[in-house]
Amino acid sequence: MPRKRPTTPEPVGGYREVNENDPDAWPLLVAFDLDYTLWDLWIDTHISPPIKRNGDVLNQLVDRRGQDLSFYREVPSILSELKRRRIHVAAASRTSAPELAREALGLLLLPSEEGGDHVRAITYFNTMEIYPGSKLRHFKEIHRKTGIPYDQMLFFDDEHRNFEVESLGVTMQLVPPSGTDRKLYNEGLSRWRKRKGIRVAHE
Ligand SMILES: [Mg+2]
Repeated sequence: MPRKRPTTPEPVGGYREVNENDPDAWPLLVAFDLDYTLWDLWIDTHISPPIKRNGDVLNQLVDRRGQDLSFYREVPSILSELKRRRIHVAAASRTSAPELAREALGLLLLPSEEGGDHVRAITYFNTMEIYPGSKLRHFKEIHRKTGIPYDQMLFFDDEHRNFEVESLGVTMQLVPPSGTDRKLYNEGLSRWRKRKGIRVAHE
């Protein structure tokens, strides 16, 4: 039987309408898994070190065998928006190649939205929890380090089993095989807002 995504019930107290730029319209923290959430591969299986970047080429690394590693196309602008809104960004990955994942984030160069210098992907991440194990542990660590309440966290991940973090109060948005894009990002935000009983007023 196909597994169903958990549905979000209508908020008990109804909705409170806020302006899009009201801080209440945004979670304090957005977390991303890495494999098949930000890039379309398993870094511990599909990438053979060493990895390198050719010059200042944007959003592309290449491994020893010529395999490319890039963020999904709309990911750089999503990260940039989160930074502009001063939202805490976290990486939560259970890869068995944590050092390689960190190295990739440190090498990957992304376009600057504000016309400044290009930025290394790693600079967008305020917190990184990258090691094997249950994602409950990753989120407990994120909470411990940041003090941010779980119900202020929105998490993007492609694996159904990681919905277990919702038991802490985190909102998880399941990422489809096409990866993270603007449409999915907006779906995640809607899901989080619905749980908080918040609706954004569109004039
Ligand atoms: Mg994944």
